Amino acid sequence: MSLNLFIIGPSGCGKSTQAKLIAEKYNLTHISTGQLLRDEIAAGTGFGLEAKAYIDQGKLVPDDLVFDVLVAKLKTIDYQNFIIDGFPRLLNQGKIVEYYLKKQSKPFSLLIHLTVTFEEITARRAKMGVEFQDKDRSDNTPEAIASRQQFYDDGIISIRDYFESKGTFFEVDGNRPVEPIFEDIVTQIEKIK
Ligand code: ADP
Repeated sequence: MSLNLFIIGPSGCGKSTQAKLIAEKYNLTHISTGQLLRDEIAAGTGFGLEAKAYIDQGKLVPDDLVFDVLVAKLKTIDYQNFIIDGFPRLLNQGKIVEYYLKKQSKPFSLLIHLTVTFEEITARRAKMGVEFQDKDRSDNTPEAIASRQQFYDDGIISIRDYFESKGTFFEVDGNRPVEPIFEDIVTQIEKIK
């Protein structure tokens, strides 16, 4: 059986740290939709050009563009054994990816939601300064950060309701050090494997 995971949470919550650890432990391909889009920008593609304006403002990149780059990547790994970081951001993205996987006869194994309070994220940012963020990212402005948080707040409620009802949702308290969070996620993955 393939293991197809998703991890979401507010900007700066540490989801890519967890995604990397999970990918390593279960031998999965780690895909970050944000990174895929930044790669397009770096490569100077049409997709990248279009995505840049949204990203720099901390807005969501339109679904069709995100899906073009994401599905192209998924194709290369036969739509399985991955952890996708930063996706879905909207319920509709979740439903569409479910549909893609179903069409390929692949399971939507689990959506992990890493909860971290805005206060905790702000405190981590203040403590670690620029090191906290990737200095190469052009969307590290206070305005873009606030906008990302707003989009997250708007999307998470309907995403949680829907995937909870499907039994494919796992929420983990991210206001803790890396190790206990990782342990809790592993315990949950072991239950569904
Ligand atoms: P962060 O964790 O700080 O939000 P990401 O690298 O996950 O960083 O995302 C950076 C930006 O990429 C987002 O603000 C958004 O513009 C774009 N992006 C990433 N994933 C998606 C997605 N699933 N749908 C739409 N836009 C996305």
